[in-house]
Amino acid sequence: MSCCGKKLITGESAIAKLEKIKNIAEGFTKLAASRAGVNFEYAKERLAICQSCENVTWLKDREFAAWLNENKIEVLKSLESLDKLSDLPKKPHRALTRRYCVKCKCNIMAKVHSKEEKCPEKWWE
Ligand code: SF4
Repeated sequence: MSCCGKKLITGESAIAKLEKIKNIAEGFTKLAASRAGVNFEYAKERLAICQSCENVTWLKDREFAAWLNENKIEVLKSLESLDKLSDLPKKPHRALTRRYCVKCKCNIMAKVHSKEEKCPEKWWE
């Protein structure tokens, strides 16, 4: 389908992308609620698994932005399956970093709070 000469995303791909956006929003909303004291037991269990996983990386905002910038077209095309893109760079914990999964590229603290999200390596569901 096209509109004004530009292709629109339709069908299953569009639904999958919308689901992913919903999951991301849910993850960050529940993460904020968790920081305000709401207990999400499943998120704690998932985080415990992620904490011992070799696929964790710690990135500064500018480092994650650089990866996004390098992969922007592929990220837009594959938003629902980012695990198919090249891994995020592996970096140690430093000041002013956030924890990401090198495989699915998600912010781990938000991901573990999003009920529908799954570990790309099937360590948790
Ligand atoms: S989501 Fe899965 S693969 Fe990614 S860091 Fe957590 S346990 Fe590891």
